[in-house]
Amino acid sequence: MNARFGVASKGLGLYLRQIQDQTRFSYGSRFAIAMTENASQLRHETVNRTKTIVVKVGTNVLSTDDDQLDSVRIASLAEQLHGICATGRKLVLVSSGAIGAGMGLLGLKQRPKDLPHLQAAAATGQAHLIHIYDKALQPHGYHASQILLTANDFKQRSRYLNVRNTLRTLAEFPVIPIVNENDTVSTEEIKLGDNDRLAAMVAGLIQADLLVILSVVDGLLTGDPTDPNSRRLPLVEKFDDELLNLVGASKSSRGTGGMKTKLEAVHTATAVGVNVIIANGKRPDVLNEIMRGDDIGTLFLGEGDGVSAWKRWIGYTMPPKGRFVLDHGARRAVEQQGKSLLAAGIVRVEGEFPKGEVVSLVDEKTGEEFARGLSNYDSVAARTIAGQRKDEITRTIGTVPYDEVIHRDNLVVTSLTKS
Ligand code: GLU
Repeated sequence: MNARFGVASKGLGLYLRQIQDQTRFSYGSRFAIAMTENASQLRHETVNRTKTIVVKVGTNVLSTDDDQLDSVRIASLAEQLHGICATGRKLVLVSSGAIGAGMGLLGLKQRPKDLPHLQAAAATGQAHLIHIYDKALQPHGYHASQILLTANDFKQRSRYLNVRNTLRTLAEFPVIPIVNENDTVSTEEIKLGDNDRLAAMVAGLIQADLLVILSVVDGLLTGDPTDPNSRRLPLVEKFDDELLNLVGASKSSRGTGGMKTKLEAVHTATAVGVNVIIANGKRPDVLNEIMRGDDIGTLFLGEGDGVSAWKRWIGYTMPPKGRFVLDHGARRAVEQQGKSLLAAGIVRVEGEFPKGEVVSLVDEKTGEEFARGLSNYDSVAARTIAGQRKDEITRTIGTVPYDEVIHRDNLVVTSLTKS
């Protein structure tokens, strides 16, 4: 298996299989290495394109070992959050920590089990939490503004629009909107449950480009966090229910979520096109690292994002190894009509390449590249069948292993998507 991961685990296998399923080729370890490089490229692209971001911070990130709010960490987060706003991005913070802080303030040694005591802890802790954020933001000329939500605020359209308007209006001012569940009025029946879910719903509400979930884990791991062989997955291109099997239902001591609830939140967010990064909020510089595009945590790509990540990889990451020169009809079929590339439209094959390589598609007259794709044929075979229809190919080489020289799923029109 790939030396850079150094492990052949179930989770990694799953990760590779997801990718390989989309390729129709079996790349083996070479592909895994390519994907690691791809992960870094996608990371930069994702962050650079982010204009609206939701950051969720978990209770364990914000608490000291003796159940107090960690004001040093909050000060550092405030500085980094301000740094993100200073780049012109819109930002909403979803912060847990009210119940944890309230426990400390009320002298409760363990998280209460009953709702009234949880609500008492939340009522006490929330005021303190916002106060500390406000104090930490003030040196940067910012204030904290508090937004407490319940499930009903997402179910009723008028309330939903109201929340959205408020968040939109707050973006005009030097404030950081800080969202939490309104624990003091959330009864069991209307509870959102956990702030990972709340953050995913807020990200959908404001159509964020990126949701960052800061927790005390390094990201999605290939195995149990206590297993020294577990490795962090840098990238998940497509959410798969099987991912949920990678993690147990572990819960944190002070907050409510574990990795399972995080993945459910990831699913909610990615399904509406939001990219998600889960990273370790105990890293002192975590938000700066993320916004630099550093390879920390796990990036889950949102669905339906213009050019899919896979196509971005084909179109922009891998250097082409050869060229297919196409006639006018083939160009139109590929560029305008969403068709696969057939041998009949290929006028000439340039360069030498094995099958499965990225190849440029260029216009016969102008020489201009307008698409790229993964070739089902190596250069020698492609040259042999160029210009031929299926029946002619059968006569020439006996069989037709692939109907298309480049299948549509493995093809990206670069003339339309490159700006
Ligand atoms: N609303 C809870 C609090 O502020 C946190 C819930 C969660 O962490 O999921 O303590």
